[in-house]
Amino acid sequence: MGTYVENLKKTLGLLKADMPNPPSRDTGDVIEGIFSITKTNEIEVQNPTKAVNKGEHLKKGERLKSEREKAITGAKKKVRPCGFCKVKTNEHTKTTCPLNPKARKKRKASPVTDV
Ligand SMILES: [Zn+2]
Repeated sequence: MGTYVENLKKTLGLLKADMPNPPSRDTGDVIEGIFSITKTNEIEVQNPTKAVNKGEHLKKGERLKSEREKAITGAKKKVRPCGFCKVKTNEHTKTTCPLNPKARKKRKASPVTDV
C-alpha cells in the first residue's frame, strides 16, 4: 500500500511538471488583464451598510416609525404645571390661566363685519 501511494505521488509530480503554468483565475488578476489596471492595496469604497428589512428589528406589535414621526415625538413639549392653579397642562400658563383674575384675556377672533 505504501509503495502504491508513493507511485501516485510520483506520477502526480510528473503531471504537474508536464503542465505549463496555467493562467491565474484570481478575480483581481482577470480584471487587471481585461482593463489593464492594477489593483490598489487601499480600499477607498467600503461596502454599504446592511439594509434592514421593514419590521425585522422590531418587537412584536411595534410599528416602524417614519423619520417625520420620530422628529415629532422628539420635539414634543414638556408638560409644565400652571403657575397659578398648578394644573399640569400645556393649554394655559400663569399669565393666561382662566382662574387668574389678573390674567390676560384670550383674544378671540373678531367676526369680520362689513360696513
Ligand atoms: Zn391655570
